[in-house]
Amino acid sequence: MPDDDAATVLEAVERDLEAIDAAMQRLDVGNYGVCEVCRTMIAEATLEADPTATRCVPSCVAA
Ligand SMILES: [Zn+2]
Repeated sequence: MPDDDAATVLEAVERDLEAIDAAMQRLDVGNYGVCEVCRTMIAEATLEADPTATRCVPSCVAA
């Protein structure tokens, strides 16, 4: 079903765009690159691998 595939890809792109949009908003307010859970700086290498990363490590959870 080519149409279903296209819809799935579109959904994935929309999610990516939302993540990028959220990252841009964090840049605006000055907390881009700060872990949303523990508030430490996210490693540069992590941000290079995923510019929309919101956590210092994917497994970071609130204490
Ligand atoms: Zn963290």
